[in-house]
Amino acid sequence: MSGATAEVVICGAGMAGVATAYHLAVRRGIGGVVLVDERPALSLTSDKSAESYRNWWPGPGDDMVALMNRSIDLMEELARESGNVFLMNRRGYLFATAQPEQVDRYMRAAEDAAGFGAGPVRVHRSPADTYQPAPAVGFEGQPIGTDVITDQGLIRRHFPYLAPDTVALLHARRCGWFSGQQLGMYMLERARDKGVRLIEGRVERVETAGGRVTGVAVSGRDGARTIGTPRFVNAAGPFVKDVGRLLGVDLPVFCERHAKVAFHDTLGVVPRHAPMMIWTDPVRLPWSDDERAELGEAESLRHLLEEMPAGVHGRPEGGGDSPIMLGVWTYHAEPMEARFPIEFDPAHAEIVLRGLTRPLPGLATYLSRFPKCFVDGGYYTKTRENRFLSCPLPIQGAYVLGGLSGYGMMSSNGAADLLADYIAERPLPRYAPAFHLDRYQDPAYRTLLDNWGDSGQL
Ligand SMILES: Cc1cc2nc3c(=O)[nH]c(=O)nc-3n(C[C@H](O)[C@H](O)[C@H](O)COP(=O)(O)OP(=O)(O)OC[C@H]3O[C@@H](n4cnc5c(N)ncnc54)[C@H](O)[C@@H]3O)c2cc1C
Repeated sequence: MSGATAEVVICGAGMAGVATAYHLAVRRGIGGVVLVDERPALSLTSDKSAESYRNWWPGPGDDMVALMNRSIDLMEELARESGNVFLMNRRGYLFATAQPEQVDRYMRAAEDAAGFGAGPVRVHRSPADTYQPAPAVGFEGQPIGTDVITDQGLIRRHFPYLAPDTVALLHARRCGWFSGQQLGMYMLERARDKGVRLIEGRVERVETAGGRVTGVAVSGRDGARTIGTPRFVNAAGPFVKDVGRLLGVDLPVFCERHAKVAFHDTLGVVPRHAPMMIWTDPVRLPWSDDERAELGEAESLRHLLEEMPAGVHGRPEGGGDSPIMLGVWTYHAEPMEARFPIEFDPAHAEIVLRGLTRPLPGLATYLSRFPKCFVDGGYYTKTRENRFLSCPLPIQGAYVLGGLSGYGMMSSNGAADLLADYIAERPLPRYAPAFHLDRYQDPAYRTLLDNWGDSGQL
């Protein structure tokens, strides 16, 4: 096969690689961009996401919120220019608790978020307070920031389907969801219009000379070829560490398996206009006496009788006439090697649905006649503090965009915009150091890492 040349070769046509190609070719006017993927574009992790977004992120510092605000700005621009082909909404993330002691925590979190730039805090303590619910579709003209609602009348009026003992809600507003596939395909098409080529093949080797990238060896159905190039971007998703090794760089990332559960809410327990709902209290799963006795006898299942971690969440999926409900709950995650196809715990769907009955008691109707559930997922590729890498690597002309964890659909625009600034040698945004590999060399950052606290993972 004949060789070819490129200005930039990107390994990986998931959301990260596609967004990088788009920001280089369409927004920076860089020609000769080649995307290489051994699978169809957007088909690995980027096909498995819950497609939600939020500018609601913990510290330390405001870098995550600043980056995410930029990413959401870019997605909104894309939504406007495309007639919102990817159906971006702004329904918000609704955190809910039945623990009165959490109210202060909600207040502090909302104040912190305001300090980080997520937007102002509005507290609703009486029935007369004007809380503005989110519309089901669209994102224009909506408030940003956070509504904290502690008035029981307001909670019941606007969210009658939540558990009756809910004492407080935190509604983070610059949040919602969109079709990740549609957004990715839209950016890919725009990039192709500007000359980006997508090549099917596996990146086998990155060639260097004198500490600089000179070429990328690709094997494919038609054989092997080397693309001469001075720049290589590693956007290999769960394989970003392996591809890093091709450059002799040990990237500080690991993988965790995560799943989402889809089922038909045929009885309409959750209204189709509902926001993303996250229960922030630990949960005890509901079991009948017989089930309880059975579980108690099986050592491997006994833990299901104990208190399970906070964070079970869910939202309606699809248009007004879709009955689909999504549920996600990270009650257990551990580092593992990325292997495909992925196997999930056969009990996962049942555990998530049972967990969801705590914030949404109406779903308990389905426990006697369990609905058919579809479990799907992939790997979160993470750094230890759950902040991605978007930066040059020590080999000249080599870059990485990876470690996008459980937020790569929402952050890819901001992260690729940052990487494109490095590649195009433009001035960098002030949050750039927070996503650079060099941060781990800084003793002050290493001390921060030891006391990091909340990583922002839901
Ligand atoms: C269950 C679940 C729920 C999620 N929910 C959300 C959510 O609500 N919101 C959100 O923003 N994010 C969410 N995410 C995270 C998001 O899906 C990921 O962060 C994102 O898809 C990562 O994109 P990527 O391009 O880095 O990786 P991928 O999509 O995995 O793409 C990497 C590509 O690199 C290719 N590749 C790897 N090695 C090579 C090689 N040597 N040669 C050629 N090609 C190669 C692969 O074939 C693949 O196509 C979720 C993830 C999961 C698993």
